[in-house]
Amino acid sequence: MGFKDRRNTVTCLVGGVPIGSSHPIVVQSMTNTDTADPKATAEQVAALARAGSTLVRVTVNNDAAAAAVPELIQRVADLGVTVPIIGDFHYNGHLLLTKYPACAAALAKYRINPGNVGSRHRDENFRTIVQVAIDHGKPVRIGVNWGSLNQDLLTSMMDANAKDSSPRDAKDVYMEAMIESALRSATLAEETGLGHDRIIISAKISQVQDLLDCYRRLAVRCDYPLHLGLTEAGLGMKGIVATTAALSLVLEEGIGDTIRASLTPSPGGDRTEEVLVAQQVLQSLGLRSFTPQVTACPGCGRTTSTLFQKMTEDIQGYLREQMPAWRERHPGVEEMKVAVMGCVVNGPGESKHANIGISLPGTAEDPKAPVYVDGALRVTLKGEEIVPEFLAILNEYVEARYPAGE
Ligand code: SF4
Repeated sequence: MGFKDRRNTVTCLVGGVPIGSSHPIVVQSMTNTDTADPKATAEQVAALARAGSTLVRVTVNNDAAAAAVPELIQRVADLGVTVPIIGDFHYNGHLLLTKYPACAAALAKYRINPGNVGSRHRDENFRTIVQVAIDHGKPVRIGVNWGSLNQDLLTSMMDANAKDSSPRDAKDVYMEAMIESALRSATLAEETGLGHDRIIISAKISQVQDLLDCYRRLAVRCDYPLHLGLTEAGLGMKGIVATTAALSLVLEEGIGDTIRASLTPSPGGDRTEEVLVAQQVLQSLGLRSFTPQVTACPGCGRTTSTLFQKMTEDIQGYLREQMPAWRERHPGVEEMKVAVMGCVVNGPGESKHANIGISLPGTAEDPKAPVYVDGALRVTLKGEEIVPEFLAILNEYVEARYPAGE
């Protein structure tokens, strides 16, 4: 599956970043700091951007947050980071965006949840936000979420379905209501005057198969770029696996132009994990490359020492640490494949398939570690210094194979 196979044909520019059509799928993330604290939020935005998040979204939930947005964006720039910042609005977006024009001007895009723009003046409030977007030349994401679906729309569709001579399954109606909410809002936005190429749509659900069903339906009913994510994916391994399963299923069908991994961090955990997970999904699917990939065997009774596990961890960590500098100096290095294998059974074979690989000695094997470079045996390492010696060979390889661009 290449970018050319993507289903949506419209490109939406968000702070200069093209989203949709044949453009690379964009990773985005969201802060969990209080936006009213511009220092803390700027630091987290910078960390997310440095980890590889191309867009970063921040909550704009009250006066203090809206007032802090221009300072936040200035602070991000002062940290030497350039990243479009998106405002996430619920309930009072129409009020905040009109009351704080500097906030409206500074943000690169507004996210509107059509289920959370008020019930009595829903369309009016929605149109107010869209008009601010038009006035400031900003795109919007119409972000429907099944946890906050427009209840009036859902009720009317459920009622109509109940009266139908052959009513559909309630879940089917719910799914249709999500899509209707997104598409009706997009139509309303365009009727208000927002350009067709200024709209991104999402319809997030927290169940993997339902998400696939929803995006399949959405993709054939519109040509807007689609933001994709399994909402409320959860904590730890459950969140990562569910996110990976969901994003992979949908992306593999050519659906999705920008993605987020909505992981719940552990207390005190690193927010950038969601960026790394999203990148890894795209790289594992062969859709984009971000960092050299390490192939490692799981280990078994043939390699009872922990050296091989430690070495894999060290090498993977080293590659990640180097990437910010390597990305500038060694274009293409993100495509590199490194193998770290536990014994002779699959070690040399897997090492030969990689750009550079090392096969450690298993239990009762000679204490030697052959290193393969571009499929050929380069050297056999021994002794206590295997890891630094291997990293030295790796560095030489990067310098020679991915020379600095002009
Ligand atoms: S390569 Fe060797 S150590 Fe690794 S899983 Fe296979 S047999 Fe076990």
